[in-house]
Amino acid sequence: MTPAMNDPPVSDPPRMAAFARGALLRCPACGRGSLFRGWFRMHDACGRCGLPFTREQGFYLGSIYINYGVTVIVTGGLYALLVAGFGTSHETALAACLVVAVALPVVFFRHARSFLLALDGSVNRHQQPAGATGDSQEKHLASLTADDGRAGCAMGVSLALILLFGLGMAVVTILFTTGMNDKPPRHPDEIDLR
Ligand SMILES: [Zn+2]
Repeated sequence: MTPAMNDPPVSDPPRMAAFARGALLRCPACGRGSLFRGWFRMHDACGRCGLPFTREQGFYLGSIYINYGVTVIVTGGLYALLVAGFGTSHETALAACLVVAVALPVVFFRHARSFLLALDGSVNRHQQPAGATGDSQEKHLASLTADDGRAGCAMGVSLALILLFGLGMAVVTILFTTGMNDKPPRHPDEIDLR
């Protein structure tokens, strides 16, 4: 179905604008159309500028990596904050992180997809997304060359940094807390956060 074109298409928005629109779950190209029609269901295309949201098979698998990275950073930071900052016991902090690790990917699902779309739009500038030109999927994929290589490298480096961050947080927390075992918590009232 062809979407109603209320606004002219904006093919190359500024990168920061594309990510700001992504944070608002809006079309990265025009910032007006909404991406989702439900918690998990996306519109096929932007209702305002016509940018296709439906991409080649497997495209949105990339959002899993974004979701994973955010979950690692948030749970790692939360654990360190609870244990080192508030003197929470390891068991309580671990339980809290477990709840967050299960809930956050669901809560962040839409934003992970939205940011991936914004990333794709800002990396593959000057290129029409699959479906926009009527070309076959193979022809479209063949047209994506250097930019996608760079994007893949950037994604790999980001994932490596996130992994290092997670490991670093774990090491720092262990070192910090093993040195605190003998001392009583500073705020006994804050131990049990529930
Ligand atoms: Zn749009």
